[in-house]
Order: sequence, then structure tokens, then C-alpha cells
Amino acid sequence: MVTKFQVAGRRLKKVHLWGSVQQAVRSQVAEVLRALDEVADLPDTAVLLLPYKGRAEGPAASTNPQAAAAGADSEPPCDGCHLRFLHYLRCGGCRQRRYCSRACQVADWRGGHKEACKQMAEEAAAAARAAAEAEAGAAGAEAGQETEERT
Ligand SMILES: [Zn+2]
Ligand SMILES: [Zn+2]
Repeated sequence: MVTKFQVAGRRLKKVHLWGSVQQAVRSQVAEVLRALDEVADLPDTAVLLLPYKGRAEGPAASTNPQAAAAGADSEPPCDGCHLRFLHYLRCGGCRQRRYCSRACQVADWRGGHKEACKQMAEEAAAAARAAAEAEAGAAGAEAGQETEERT
């Protein structure tokens, strides 16, 4: 069976354009593979539902960039586009960054979060450990086991 593609290829060979087409395709494929490679270890996201503390306009305000940007909402915005939304995706690696969409996550990942994510995750784990230790320490102090180290 002769496909349209084969016919086009033969015609391009005849006018000596086949080489440039092959080259273009190869560079396109390389570009796609490179992009895929960059997001290969992108952590999965979990939907993070936030209580919406918006103004009277309600959810419609979140779809209007100007209204969203002007809002004095204390909830932090998307870490990608810096707009406020009702629902966010949370970075599955560090669980600190939040995004309105997978596209924003990928953009931020490629824009440097790839490197920062692991560090943020480690810092968060260390902070959680420290908090747990402080709690244990406080409980110990309450039980009358305070030591000289506590000044
Ligand atoms: Zn976004
Ligand atoms: Zn992350």
C-alpha cells in the first residue's frame, strides 16, 4: 500500500527537499525528546482544595486576572502564573508549591523548581522533625523533666 506520506516523500526526493525535511523532523524529534526528558521526574500532583475566602463576586472573580490580582485575599496565588484560583494542584515532591494547572507546574519545574523541589522537601521534613522534637521537649518540660540545656 502506498501511503500519502510515501508519495510526498518521493516527490520531495525528486525536488531535492527530502534531506531538509528529514533534518527538520530529526531536530523536532530531538526537541520533543529533550522536553520529555526535562519533565521525566516531575512529581505527581495532588489536588489541594482550599477554602475560598473571596469577595461577593464569588468564583467568577478567580477567572478574571485583574479582579484576582486586585483582591486582598490572604491565600497565596498559583506559583506559576501568580493568579488566584479556587483549587490548586500541589507539587507532589515538596508539597509546598501550588499551581492552578499542570501547565503552570511544568513551566515552574522547567523554570528552576526541578532543582529547588528536593531542597524544599528536605527543609520541610527537617522543620517537621524540629517541630515534633519541640513538642516532645515541651511535653517533657510539663512533666517536670526540664534540663539545664533549656535556658
Ligand atoms: Zn497558574
Ligand atoms: Zn516541588
